[in-house]
Amino acid sequence: MPGLGMSVFEISHRSSVFDEILAGTQSNLRKLYGIPDNYRILFLQGGALLQFSMVPINFLRGAEKPSDYIVTGSWGEKSVKEAKREGEVNIAWDGKAESYTHTPSPSELKLSGDSAYIHFTSNETIEGIQFASEPESGKVPLICDMSSDFLSKLLPIERYGLIYAGAQKNAGPAGTTIVIIREDMLERVPENQHSMLDYRLLAEKNSALNTPPVFAIYMVKLVTDWLVDEIGGLKKMSKLNSGKAKLLYDVIDQNPEFYRGHARTDSRSKMNVIFRLPSEGQEAEFIKEAEQANLHGLKGHRSVGGIRASIYNAMTLEGVKILRDFMLDIASRQT
Ligand code: PMP
Repeated sequence: MPGLGMSVFEISHRSSVFDEILAGTQSNLRKLYGIPDNYRILFLQGGALLQFSMVPINFLRGAEKPSDYIVTGSWGEKSVKEAKREGEVNIAWDGKAESYTHTPSPSELKLSGDSAYIHFTSNETIEGIQFASEPESGKVPLICDMSSDFLSKLLPIERYGLIYAGAQKNAGPAGTTIVIIREDMLERVPENQHSMLDYRLLAEKNSALNTPPVFAIYMVKLVTDWLVDEIGGLKKMSKLNSGKAKLLYDVIDQNPEFYRGHARTDSRSKMNVIFRLPSEGQEAEFIKEAEQANLHGLKGHRSVGGIRASIYNAMTLEGVKILRDFMLDIASRQT
């Protein structure tokens, strides 16, 4: 760190330097999303997967109400599995029978009315299904797994009781999970919780109940500095992301004999563009040729197959244009 004679790997998490890193990261996130004072920002460990458990442990265990889960893909399905260990889960909607190709319309949701919370996954990373807007939740706290579209666009933060996101898509390296929690949610946490699972205690200790992931938080600080200073905020980031996604979806739409998008058009993800080719053989050939052209990481998740282009914040417009041109080229040669 400048002037310290020590790197960020060496500093103490009880030092004023770390206090500044933590405060700076929180302040950047507040600025980017316009997070009001009645929300706390935590940096935890254990990934989004631990949040699948912490949410029901803190808000469903012992509650005399069910929770509502809206399931639009594989991650939502996994979150339900953990919640069921803690209490009653009402599946307000499940897209599995239709292979997770779209989000529900408001009229399709079967919410319990007075539940402990409503949980949804804003962007299903494996199926490429993204909510265009928040489900209506009334007075019930809305909880969201935002792991794969965190920091990709602006949000009406006040609609949420709790947001969580593993850092490793848009915010920084794996190692920290960001939790944005409304203060009244902290009051719902039952007494006598295990310390490391207790949102109230973790908030009280400002994420430093034990040694926090100093390096990962520092990286989130740098990424959010970039979003604030170089990109110019989340409205601009969102515009860039929409432009990138449009380039690829346009190729899919204009070449229906060769490309078939997985998501219904109204549920298309701007982060993960998932599509199939006419045959698995052609998909294998696509991946092979793509790698030869230095386009990597395009193989779809094994549960969906096909191709997945993950175009997170860090992927440039130029990078997406190269993929677009590759897609047009291979389609013209094979049709
Ligand atoms: N939810 C979503 C939407 C994800 O994309 C992921 C990881 N890809 C997870 C949960 C699991 O996150 P982690 O690996 O941080 O536990």
